[in-house]
Amino acid sequence: MLVESMTGYGVFTTDKKGTISSWNAGAQKLFGYKEKEIIGKNASLIFRQKDINKHKLQNELQKVTLKGKVIVERYHVHKDGSEFWASGLIFPLGDEKDISRGFTFIARDLTEKVEFEKRKDDFISTATHELKTPITSMKLYAQVVEQEIKKSGNKSNLRSVVVLNKQLTKVMALMDYLLDVDKIRKGKLELKKIIFDMNKLIKETIEMIQIVSLKHVIIHEGKVNKKIYGDKNRLGQVLANLITNAVKYSPSAEKVIVRSDNNTQETVISVKDFGFGISKTEQSRISGRFFRTSAAIEHKVDGIGLGLYVAKQIIKGHKGKLWFESEVDKGSTFYFSLPQKI
Ligand code: ADP
Repeated sequence: MLVESMTGYGVFTTDKKGTISSWNAGAQKLFGYKEKEIIGKNASLIFRQKDINKHKLQNELQKVTLKGKVIVERYHVHKDGSEFWASGLIFPLGDEKDISRGFTFIARDLTEKVEFEKRKDDFISTATHELKTPITSMKLYAQVVEQEIKKSGNKSNLRSVVVLNKQLTKVMALMDYLLDVDKIRKGKLELKKIIFDMNKLIKETIEMIQIVSLKHVIIHEGKVNKKIYGDKNRLGQVLANLITNAVKYSPSAEKVIVRSDNNTQETVISVKDFGFGISKTEQSRISGRFFRTSAAIEHKVDGIGLGLYVAKQIIKGHKGKLWFESEVDKGSTFYFSLPQKI
């Protein structure tokens, strides 16, 4: 009765081989097949041909056998041939990992959500591109006015113009992040790789951030003994993001430690802080677009939750990894690794 009443969810069961053995009203609504026409058929009927060719269903069932349950997101095919994006859960019908009785599938149509996300992304993309030119020229004029006021010796409006310039710098940094996100979405985040000295890049980045971080001492430990082949500016952006975060999210601490090491396989850079940390429940959501922890919001720390998302993509573009360890009220360490040959 419970399964039948879940009309928003397609719920069905299969035997060990994926032959459908029960089918609720939600599954009928979602996939278009009536109970009597689908019972006894293989669940691959609701999979796309290319997924059938890749043995997707069998692979997923294999995973359930190993793990007990799996969460999946993929396209499904409706009876009328149309395709839709769905999220679902597959688990053994009997006890955990005992698949002798078959499997239970729960699926939900996510097409609307995906389309909404796309419309949102399109809007952000258009708005950012349209705003970029006027904001860049506002910044240029504001800089000219600041220079003029400084030259004239009449300092009465200087403070306002300095504040205006600072705020415009923040707006431009936000625009740059939004433009990066748009490039990532379109697969156009290009990396201009060169051979460079990572130690120098770390030193310069620390110096740049140290000037504006009066409370923290940013310490650099370790050394990279090999030259790096990568996009220097983009890797500098990742470093700056991690160090700025370490400072921002540890307002009561006094130091941040940047460490760099390498072995024959890879170079690993870490940034350690002694701040808020990130709770276990929120850790899996870090580096999702626009995600901010409750601690960041509670403490009213400035930010929009795009830096780590962009950083992760940049490191991925270098075939490296970005990860972190964190404990609430003790602090966090963010790492990224770059393979020796990238
Ligand atoms: P932003 O700092 O602009 O919000 P990021 O993408 O750089 O964006 O970080 C995403 C979120 O991850 C932050 O809002 C914060 O909640 C959390 N976070 C990042 N770095 C740290 C850190 N060192 N310590 C604690 N929380 C962090």
